[in-house]
Amino acid sequence: GSERPFQVISGGQAGKRDREAPPITFADVGGLHAVKNAIQMKIVKPFVSPGLFERFRKKVGGGILLYGPPGCGKTFIAKATAGECRARFIPIHVSDILDPYIGVSEQNLREVFASARATKPSVLFLDEMDAIGYNRSRSSTDTMRAVIDTLLTEIEGIETNTDKMLIIGATNMPWDVDPAFKRPGRFDKMIFVSPPDEEARATIFRIKLHERPIEQIDYALLAKETDLYSGADIENVVELATEEVITEIMRTGVERPLTMKDLKNAIQSTQPSTIDW
Ligand code: ATP
Repeated sequence: GSERPFQVISGGQAGKRDREAPPITFADVGGLHAVKNAIQMKIVKPFVSPGLFERFRKKVGGGILLYGPPGCGKTFIAKATAGECRARFIPIHVSDILDPYIGVSEQNLREVFASARATKPSVLFLDEMDAIGYNRSRSSTDTMRAVIDTLLTEIEGIETNTDKMLIIGATNMPWDVDPAFKRPGRFDKMIFVSPPDEEARATIFRIKLHERPIEQIDYALLAKETDLYSGADIENVVELATEEVITEIMRTGVERPLTMKDLKNAIQSTQPSTIDW
């Protein structure tokens, strides 16, 4: 385990990057109203108004676990949560932390949490939470138990108010997440990040087409024709259509905006990805 793919970028460099691109916020996330509300109450509000929660002795801390099919915005909304809190976003793939050598996974975990504390305010995002469990792992029960215990200790040790650090877990396979993580003070709130409904799909098309040269876009129709498309699928449709337009402009030398025809062609050439979940 000498590689550290999860190492947190710290200091001035990361700060510089923040100034270049504005952070994404909830306004960039289409649909998912219930998810946004739950994250507001459980995470954003205690983070930005700690005094109010202290006065009412409201319990804070613990994390939330986002679950749902791939490409529907789990990572994206976690990133937006960091934007809402003006906190640094630290994404970690749990599988990058796990190491077959005894004790190394635990050490990796402690380092990740220490780095997240050091770069506060921060949102630590643990993706693939299902990887820490008995079902899918090849590790022995004892080895996995030690990893689970270390993670539980770290999560319970977070003092949201003073550490200025939040934790969000995510998984495509909630049935594989160890039950120990779902108890109070841990990931005690499970939130379903659903595939976008028709209204949400129209909004996602709007968000993704925003600031591109477009003409006469029928968002309701686009939404109707993309049943079962995830947010990532929609982003892909917009990218494909844009690619076509640019290729054509380069070939003909005549500039024109992106139209419904380009988008419909792109939809025709793609498949929805949330069918099997
Ligand atoms: P995985 O389980 O594969 O990690 P995920 O649920 O974390 O998937 P994201 O990585 O958040 O999916 O989504 C992929 C991309 O799709 C995002 O970067 C974003 O651009 C777009 N996207 C997905 N859902 C939405 C949404 N509700 N609103 C706007 N964009 C979205």
